[in-house]
Amino acid sequence: MKRKVFCMSMFELVTAGAMILLYAGSTIAWAQERDRSKIADKYKWNLTDIYSSDEAWRQAKEKFAAEFPRVEKFKGTLGKSAQNLLQCMESLDLLGKEYARLAIYASFASDIDTRDSKYLGMRQEISQVGSAFGASASFVQPEILTIDAAVLESFYIREKKLEIYRHKLSDLLRTKQHTGTEGEEKILADASLVTGAAAGIYSIFTDAEFPYEKITLSDGKTVLIDRIGFNLYRTSDNREDRKKVFDVYFAKINDFRRTFGTQLYEQVKSDMFTMKARKYESSLQSALDGDNIPLDVYRSLIKNVNANLETFHRYLALRKRMLGVAELHYYDLYVPLVSKVNAKFSVDEAEANVLASLTPLGNEYAAVTKKAFSERWVDMYPTEGKRNGAYSQGGLYDVHPYMLMNYNGKYDDMATLAHELGHTMHSYFSTKKQPFTNAGYPIFLAEVASTFNEALLNDYMLKKIKDDDERLAILGNYLDAVKGTLFRQVQFAEFELAIHELAEKGEALTGDKLNALYLEITRKYYGHDKGVCIVDNPIQSEWAVVPHFYRTFYVYQYSTGLIASSALSEKVMAGDKPATERYLNFLSMGGSDYPITLLQNAGVDLTSPEPFQLTMKKVNRAIDEMEKILNKRK
Ligand SMILES: [Zn+2]
Repeated sequence: MKRKVFCMSMFELVTAGAMILLYAGSTIAWAQERDRSKIADKYKWNLTDIYSSDEAWRQAKEKFAAEFPRVEKFKGTLGKSAQNLLQCMESLDLLGKEYARLAIYASFASDIDTRDSKYLGMRQEISQVGSAFGASASFVQPEILTIDAAVLESFYIREKKLEIYRHKLSDLLRTKQHTGTEGEEKILADASLVTGAAAGIYSIFTDAEFPYEKITLSDGKTVLIDRIGFNLYRTSDNREDRKKVFDVYFAKINDFRRTFGTQLYEQVKSDMFTMKARKYESSLQSALDGDNIPLDVYRSLIKNVNANLETFHRYLALRKRMLGVAELHYYDLYVPLVSKVNAKFSVDEAEANVLASLTPLGNEYAAVTKKAFSERWVDMYPTEGKRNGAYSQGGLYDVHPYMLMNYNGKYDDMATLAHELGHTMHSYFSTKKQPFTNAGYPIFLAEVASTFNEALLNDYMLKKIKDDDERLAILGNYLDAVKGTLFRQVQFAEFELAIHELAEKGEALTGDKLNALYLEITRKYYGHDKGVCIVDNPIQSEWAVVPHFYRTFYVYQYSTGLIASSALSEKVMAGDKPATERYLNFLSMGGSDYPITLLQNAGVDLTSPEPFQLTMKKVNRAIDEMEKILNKRK
């Protein structure tokens, strides 16, 4: 279970706002200026919106360091009066806001030029101050837990301003029954010394010590098939090569299935320890309770995706057709179906396309988007020493969100711009409408607004682009993403649930048992028995190369995010006015309620088949389009 860092809402903001999308490499698509001083200001961040200078940052930091220890004066008083509680919460908000500002400024300055040790130093300084602040405020959460629910209710009547903290406070009290006595909590905290062992050993074993094999490819080149080599060479155009890559990689993994099996079993047992210590009935319940996600959401996800496997099989049949193979095998799944879109887009073109694609969201959304582009919220180009990838940071409550890009002119870069802009607008509207305490959105919802925008851009570009090759590329990339984000993650989620349930029934998990279970589930998803895609025996040990199984019950959120955004964007693109209103309202709700409630209010019920059906309709439409183009060619 994720423990809530209740008093440190800026940490939630800093982490929830910064959804980092890492794109491998940043190869330069065109001869582009890398010298930061030669790039026009309008494409670079204006950090003076945060502090006027580094000197101003330093002064603010010293002021903060002197002020935060004062929060300790509330220690022992929170349950005594509504006013004490309110004053403490308000002080923490003020401090939290300022801390976020200090930390984000330092990290931005450092991200623009990671080589600059001055900013790295500022980052380290502020992170130390943050730890000390956290320690000062650490009494707040346990002290609130001692307040009786009826007393707290009387506080709301006496002190109306406490209302804005109601959701946070009741969320905290909700976990009370899973919080132990002081002595028990001490033991649980100490237990973290050993409960992470499985994950630690797994990581060292697979990353540093595992004796990966070398193979010789058809071109005579000898390559190491470790994790990186596997990811690279499994995409080979040469079928014999990729078959060999799969066979050799998984055979070697299988040789160590007993060790891998013991590691994973130890992880599952550690989850069971937490579940029992925190008085949950299952590991699943223990993991989902942090965000108050009903178990039904998880089970419905598996059920509904299983009910829609036919759509997945259509995708696999299309892949088979495009590859021109008589029988599709698991090792054929990573060779690119279509090449990437070749067209290049200048930043101005990308901004215009993104802006046009967002038209269904109305005037205010468009106006803020324009502002983001014109008022230097975006640091657009890759420059010497700049951090890789892309992210949006929405944790600056009184300022505005910022986006880091490494724009290279490719279609993917334009899609990333739309994606990060989704995060940015979610932060912008939530910050505008919500008090600081509720402005940050929960991780469970983090990828809804971003993937929603990608869907709108995709749809717009498909209407605009007439070239068949480019259309095939856009559609093919979309389908590959659905395969990876939806079907594959739910297949993992089903396996994860099954192994926890077996262990909770008292069954020991061994490498052989995990192999058999993994093969059975994978064959079901890929339609092995129906001849849709052959899952050869070596694939049975694939579970051993999925590091996410050491982040218990995490991967399902990739799928729920995509399903929610697909369902929402399908309605908005169809011109459904009330659905559009609901979606815009959702963007301004931040973390003011539980994620499932916020989604329900937006019109998405993840326990009903509707969002799955809407998503599948969209997937089928993409397959239809591709088939139409292919038929034309035949
Ligand atoms: Zn994202």
